[in-house]
Amino acid sequence: MNKMSVKDLKDLKGKKVLVRCDFNVPMKDGVITDENRIIGALPTIKYLLEAGAKVTLCSHMGKPHSVFSSEVKLNKKDLKKVDAGETTKEAVIEKALKDEPKKLTLAPVAKRLNELLGGKVTFATDVIGADAKAKRSALKEGEAVLLENLRFHWEEEKKDEGFCKELAFDADIYVNDAFGTAHRSHASTAAIVEYGIIKTAVCGFLIEKELSVMADTLENPKRPFVAILGGAKVTDKLNVISNLLEKCDTLIIGGGMAYTFLKAKGYEIGTSLCDEDKIDYCKEMIAKAEKSGKELLLPIDTVVTTHFPDPIDAEIEIETVFTDKMPANKMGMDIGEKTRKLYADKVASAKSVIWNGPMGVFENPVLAKGTIAVAQALADVYGKCTTIIGGGDSAAAVQQLGFADKMTHISTGGGASLELFEGKTLPGIECLNEKH
Ligand code: AMP
Repeated sequence: MNKMSVKDLKDLKGKKVLVRCDFNVPMKDGVITDENRIIGALPTIKYLLEAGAKVTLCSHMGKPHSVFSSEVKLNKKDLKKVDAGETTKEAVIEKALKDEPKKLTLAPVAKRLNELLGGKVTFATDVIGADAKAKRSALKEGEAVLLENLRFHWEEEKKDEGFCKELAFDADIYVNDAFGTAHRSHASTAAIVEYGIIKTAVCGFLIEKELSVMADTLENPKRPFVAILGGAKVTDKLNVISNLLEKCDTLIIGGGMAYTFLKAKGYEIGTSLCDEDKIDYCKEMIAKAEKSGKELLLPIDTVVTTHFPDPIDAEIEIETVFTDKMPANKMGMDIGEKTRKLYADKVASAKSVIWNGPMGVFENPVLAKGTIAVAQALADVYGKCTTIIGGGDSAAAVQQLGFADKMTHISTGGGASLELFEGKTLPGIECLNEKH
């Protein structure tokens, strides 16, 4: 990676540093239920505090400004006023946030950070208001303040320039360490630098680590390089499939998306998930693999059911069939035993593996065996192969199975890592200063 990191900064003593973190941690009733993201941010924060910087931390939490979000309840009467042109959607959300702002507050994160960092962190009850300004101005060397949820301001996602200026306040340096939002082009993730408001812009240790493992593996993998893709739909991963096919030696497909590929090969797939309008795309990918001498592996057998379980973890009867003999009235829900072995054997002979997306409807224990088998195969090559889990469901599966410390890298950003796999540049990284 050619971007500057905090390590490249000299003389941090007394410097005012604004750090964008990803503290979007899961919470239940105001209690943090998984603090991985907080722990992931600590190396950068500690480094800055020990160097004597005055640190302002900022992050988003949830999606308070999405009208589709269940996190903030919007008043129906007010929404009618929006339809009638009497008010704006932003104003209605702003009002709702005033009524129940505490749900998505970052206050519990500040409390936990303060515990972890020996009493050096305070909390500002606003983002660009009087409290934030007063607390930022009062910072002493080696102290930090965490601002309230950035997304309490609609201006954050709309990249409002005035908001960027107020957020920058008196900062000399911008540090982005929020890999989970590095694919977003928002005020705090990119615009604050793009508008030229803060000139010195570097990445933190977390982003540096994510990039060094993932980008380096994509650009310069130890071979054989195996990419494993699963999850629901082909549509969501079009560019990922195409880009990875170019980079890897073997592309393994599982999950719901496998059935569109199987249909493209002319197989009967029963009532399985299928992206009808992506069948031609799958044919193209199969041809692309053949032409470039790449291996594209599809399930040879599959676990089928008569219906989708409802609720998703409900008891369900299963049967395993060969994928070229799927009954017309059944749906494919997981890879079968022979496929599990085929995929695990491929992993066993690989030198680098990246994985994104479950192999089946893993939320149901009966349909989780394919996903577990892949996680196990990756854990089994620990130390012999670079294994990268691209966030999201696969990361959760690996963690739940207790394999987390048997992986080279588990990304903290599902969306951001998928965009890296697509070969895209991420705005939150693109905007940072180049190394000289
Ligand atoms: P994604 O967000 O694209 O990674 O997809 C994850 C979702 O795909 C999970 O909720 C799985 O239940 C779902 N999924 C995996 N395999 C299948 C399948 N064969 N049929 C339907 N859904 C699936």
